[in-house]
Amino acid sequence: MTREAIRLNMIELKTADQITKMRKAGKVVGGLLEVLKAAVKPGLTTAELDELARQTIVRLGGKVAFKGYRGFPGNICISVNEQVVHGIPSQRVLNEGDIVGLDVGAIVEEYYADAAVTVAVGAVSKEAKQLLRVTESSLHEGIAKARPGNRLSDISHAVQTCAEKAGYTVVREFVGHGIGKQLHEPPEVPNYGAPGFGPELKAGMVLAIEPMVNLGKPAVRVLEDGWTVVTKDGNLSAHFEHTVAITEHGPEILTKQ
Ligand code: MG
Repeated sequence: MTREAIRLNMIELKTADQITKMRKAGKVVGGLLEVLKAAVKPGLTTAELDELARQTIVRLGGKVAFKGYRGFPGNICISVNEQVVHGIPSQRVLNEGDIVGLDVGAIVEEYYADAAVTVAVGAVSKEAKQLLRVTESSLHEGIAKARPGNRLSDISHAVQTCAEKAGYTVVREFVGHGIGKQLHEPPEVPNYGAPGFGPELKAGMVLAIEPMVNLGKPAVRVLEDGWTVVTKDGNLSAHFEHTVAITEHGPEILTKQ
C-alpha cells in the first residue's frame, strides 16, 4: 500500500502476482491452524500453543506476523471463553469445556495472511458448540457475498443476519480489514450493517473477514493488559476469520485449512 493510498483511504487492488504471494502466506496460515487445532487439549498452556505456533510458522516457510505488532507480545492471539480477541499467550492452562480462539498470521515474501478459528477443548456444552457452529457459518455467509458487483456492507449484513437469527450478537468495536503488504489495510469490514452500502467490491481486493459473535450482549471491554478484549457480561464469545481474495469468479479463501 502506497502512502498516497493510505492518505486517500483507497482500497488496493492486488495484481495476480501479489495474490500468488498471498496464496503462499495463506497456505502457511491454513497449515498452522490445522496443526494448532490438532494440538489443543486439556492441560496445555496457551504459552505452549504459542511456541508451537512459532515453530510451525517457521517450519512452513513463513515469518511470525503478530509478535511486536504495535507491541503485541505473543506469536499468535489466544482468547479463552469470554475473551473475544487479542488474548496474550500465558501460563493459563486450558481446561476441558473451554473454548479457545486461535487468531494467527504469517508473512511470506512480504505479504500477510490472517485467519482465526475457535475450537472446543475436550467436551464442551451444547451452548458452546452451537455458538462455534453459528459463528463459523456467519463467516461463510459473509464470504459468499465477497464477489464483484456486490457492496462491502453486503458481507457485513450477511454475517450479522446469520448470527442474530440464532439469537447471538455481533461485536461492533472490532472489525475485519483489507490485507496485503500491511496486516491492516483499508477498508474496514464491519460485522453488522444494512446491505447495499460502502465501496463496490472488485476483483483484486483481498479482505480479512472476521466475525466476533457473542452468546450474550454485544458490549466488550479491554483488560488492563491493554490487549485482551472480553465480553462485558462475561458470556462466551467466538471468532472465525479467513483471508479472502475477490476474483472475477467469486471469493477465493486463501487461508483454507
Ligand atoms: Mg484480522
